Amino acid sequence: MKRSSQGRSWPDKQVSEFLDQIISGGEYYRRLVERLPAIVYASELGKHGRWRYVSPQVEEILGYSPEEWLADPGLWAKLIHPDDRKRVLELETRKTLGDRNPPPADYRVITRDGDVVWILDEAVLELDETGTPVWHGVLYDITERKTAEQELQRVAAQQAAVARLGEQALQDGDPDALMREAVSLMTEIDGVQGACVWEVGRDGRRLQLRAGLEGEAAGDGRRVSAARDSHVGAALDSGLHVIVDDWLSEHRFSMPPALRVQGVRSSLAVGIDGKDHPFGVLDVHSAEPGRFTPQDAHFVQASANVLADAIKRHAADQALRHRVLHDSLTGLPNRLSFVDALNDALERGTVSGSPVGILFLDLDHFKLINDSMGHHVGDELLQAVAPRLRAHLRPGDLVARFGGDEFGVLVARLADEDEAVAIADRVAAAFAEPYSMGGVEHFVTASLGIAVARPSSREPVDAELLIRDADAAMYRAKERGRARCELFDAAMRARAVHRVEVERELRHALEREELVLHYQPVVALGSGEITGLEALVRWRHPDRGLLNPGEFIPIAEDSGLIEPIGRWVQETACRQILEWHEQRPDARPVDISVNLSARQVAHRDLAGSVAEVLARTGLDPVHLRLEITEGVLVEESATATATLEALSEIGVRLVLDDFGTGYSSLAYLSRFPFDALKIDHSFVDALGVEQERTAIIEAIISMARALSLDVIAEGVENEAQLSELCRLGCDYGQGYLFSRALPPEKISALLGDGARRYSGMLPGR
Ligand code: C2E
Ligand code: MG
Ligand code: MG
Repeated sequence: MKRSSQGRSWPDKQVSEFLDQIISGGEYYRRLVERLPAIVYASELGKHGRWRYVSPQVEEILGYSPEEWLADPGLWAKLIHPDDRKRVLELETRKTLGDRNPPPADYRVITRDGDVVWILDEAVLELDETGTPVWHGVLYDITERKTAEQELQRVAAQQAAVARLGEQALQDGDPDALMREAVSLMTEIDGVQGACVWEVGRDGRRLQLRAGLEGEAAGDGRRVSAARDSHVGAALDSGLHVIVDDWLSEHRFSMPPALRVQGVRSSLAVGIDGKDHPFGVLDVHSAEPGRFTPQDAHFVQASANVLADAIKRHAADQALRHRVLHDSLTGLPNRLSFVDALNDALERGTVSGSPVGILFLDLDHFKLINDSMGHHVGDELLQAVAPRLRAHLRPGDLVARFGGDEFGVLVARLADEDEAVAIADRVAAAFAEPYSMGGVEHFVTASLGIAVARPSSREPVDAELLIRDADAAMYRAKERGRARCELFDAAMRARAVHRVEVERELRHALEREELVLHYQPVVALGSGEITGLEALVRWRHPDRGLLNPGEFIPIAEDSGLIEPIGRWVQETACRQILEWHEQRPDARPVDISVNLSARQVAHRDLAGSVAEVLARTGLDPVHLRLEITEGVLVEESATATATLEALSEIGVRLVLDDFGTGYSSLAYLSRFPFDALKIDHSFVDALGVEQERTAIIEAIISMARALSLDVIAEGVENEAQLSELCRLGCDYGQGYLFSRALPPEKISALLGDGARRYSGMLPGR
């Protein structure tokens, strides 16, 4: 029924003359008219106006013969498409006599076959010789032009819709919202009944309903095969659009149940790309068969591409977010996300009233593991610890890595402190089994601190402060011997605050010259001669008076201040001992002992800095003794070993301090370049009192002799101890019995009294 229509308006005069000719039977014109691709007519005015002439093309275009047409004056009005009828008839009646050039009208007419034909109706109104107004007009079939126009409009509308979707994608990165938007956009297309987004499932074998068809399907109905036996699977697999013209006669694909319940007849599916693999399929449905053309596929694909971009961008954003909030080594949340989660938990706790607990966990001796076995082994350990911690916690608890060997656990809903302690015990169980490091099984322990808060609207709790509390409790656990757990309490808070205060003041202590050295004589037990002096640091605190190292050295170690302080001690002690040498040019030079803490020994450059001090002061290295506590060696740190070797090469003497408090055996000691060992005062205390410890000292002394190590006893407080030490053949002694640590001027006086000052004290003299 479709036909091209090209005719345009003719001059009115010509038209009416022409028609008069035809009607009056001009054979030539009649033949001409009847060959035109249009219907020529003359009809009287009015809805039921009589038709005087209709050219035979009317039958070809509309399916009714001219005779039928002329016989029924109401036929024309009856055939106008119901949606257009009112408008056209109004136009017809509004046209007044004498308006010789009314605008052409277009409208749809239903043919005898029930098809719709677009008609352009162009006519002029003229009075005939009797004065009756008569239309002289031409009806063109403009169906194709109209269809093309509509198609263009549809494409433009679709382009606008895709643009709108793209805009929304830029404004709001949430793919779910965008998918819902895309689905509703699809349903705006003419004849589209519904749309949905299918997402590729985790296993890649199924697609899962992600948006659209809300409430239409449940359970299995929300899934469809991702293989080529489903239309969406085929679209996914081929990367091309798939059109199902009629589900009733479809043989290639089985119909998803979710579509069946909707009475869908035709479908169009296109793939949605994802970041690394296809994300899924955008699927559009119609209740009409054959609704979709490849033209629609372009539009739907364009929308799917917008979705794909948004999904990829969102995935990239998520990945970035993940990187910002997670620790890359262990994959655990980092401190930042821990603080976030803790803040949330505290807020919820304020409302619910339930306490919030956190655990602060620090691996014991991790630094030594790192130093001795290498960083990759340390990393390996951290990676192995993370899943174990997780496995020992409840699913809702959060484990985070704060950095280094520090982990945090957030227990959002607690009954009370006891429950927190129980959870800490479970966490400690993560260390019951050995860890494989560098292919060897090692037992690792951790120190844990617990802090529990009961936030209320009157007393809000600060996340950072709670973490600090747990940290302080963990610190206490370390102090109390590691591999244990401590609950934070008010006293600890006071201590923590105190530590912070001390650290702040200590930073200025050096420049304000508040540090001083006291010296304690080391006496040769054979002669009573002062052969050495141990430099022991003191802090002349402006408010608190003279402080012993126990009050600030641990803080200096933790904060790193021990390094500048240590250099100052070494330099001051070296200068002082040289001064004493110069004061007694004829006497045997006295040695100076300086203590080093583990952190100083772990520093790679210690030997270099000691050599510098010696060069600057001009002290002969043989007169410098460095005291190192046994703990430094226990872990067999590679750096510590290298540092000791380097120090020994410079020519300084090394003394193992506090011997007996650690675990090292004498045999093990022989691997390190020590010159002397200092028996801890706890052993000296027990001399002659505890049989067992006396026997140990005896054994130490004879084995040290075999290894050519000098033995010094520290903390000698009474004559009984002294005589026992002499009996056992101990080389040197140091303690209150001889002298406390004294300021330099008092030592000068002591040295001035003569070297063999203490000979009278020795037994049997
Ligand atoms: P240490 O090296 O074992 O020093 C011996 C400690 O025992 C000194 O305490 C000393 O005053 C004390 N002492 C001496 N004789 C007796 C005695 O007969 N009975 C008792 N009960 N104690 C006695 P001080 O000066 O408080 O030093 C404590 C620790 O601080 C030292 O232990 C040392 O490890 C550390 N330290 C001191 N000065 C420095 C320093 O300049 N650098 C570093 N890194 N550590 C230092
Ligand atoms: Mg010492
Ligand atoms: Mg000692």
